[in-house]
Amino acid sequence: MEFSDVENDIAEVLYTEQEIHAKIAELSRRIEVDYAGEKVLLVGVLRGAVMVMADLARELTIPIEMDWMAVSSYGSGTQSSGVVRILKDLDTDLHGRHVLIVEDIIDSGLTLSWLRGNLESRGAASVEICALLRKPEAAKVVVDVKYEGFQIPNAFVVGYGLDFAEQYRNLRGIAVLAPHVYA
Ligand code: 5GP
Repeated sequence: MEFSDVENDIAEVLYTEQEIHAKIAELSRRIEVDYAGEKVLLVGVLRGAVMVMADLARELTIPIEMDWMAVSSYGSGTQSSGVVRILKDLDTDLHGRHVLIVEDIIDSGLTLSWLRGNLESRGAASVEICALLRKPEAAKVVVDVKYEGFQIPNAFVVGYGLDFAEQYRNLRGIAVLAPHVYA
């Protein structure tokens, strides 16, 4: 789906498909150097990270494995609370593994901060984070993101896997949703 297919629902285009792919290629080159000689386990966080995971995995020239987790963050309304429930757990034993969490967006940071601690406690050799987007102004906890794509303003964005009410995930680029859509 293109921006023109949903132009009335979009306030501002942030990144085109081409810009996203260029950024993922840039991150991949760094990951390849850092994990040379290792087999990294990419852990995708469902459902938003599906597109980042698919593109990152194909861009990487080193051996990888992929696994998935689904988590839900308890909170009031749209605010994440940091209390996280696992809806779908990994199938992989993390003992001694080099884990790279692949995330679409970091908002408050509470979900990822919890997730990193959870995966570390399973005996992983290392746990790092790759996130395509981060909203620095929304941070409630400091999360060390080794591979960060773009820093964005504190606005609600959709596209490239990110939804509003399960819509817009198939938009090729990333855009700020127009307020009238969720009003
Ligand atoms: P955090 O715990 O960092 O506050 O929450 C991160 C999660 O909130 C993301 O994985 C994503 O599911 C959701 N989220 C945060 N900001 C946005 C946004 O701007 N757009 C969309 N679609 N989801 C968001």
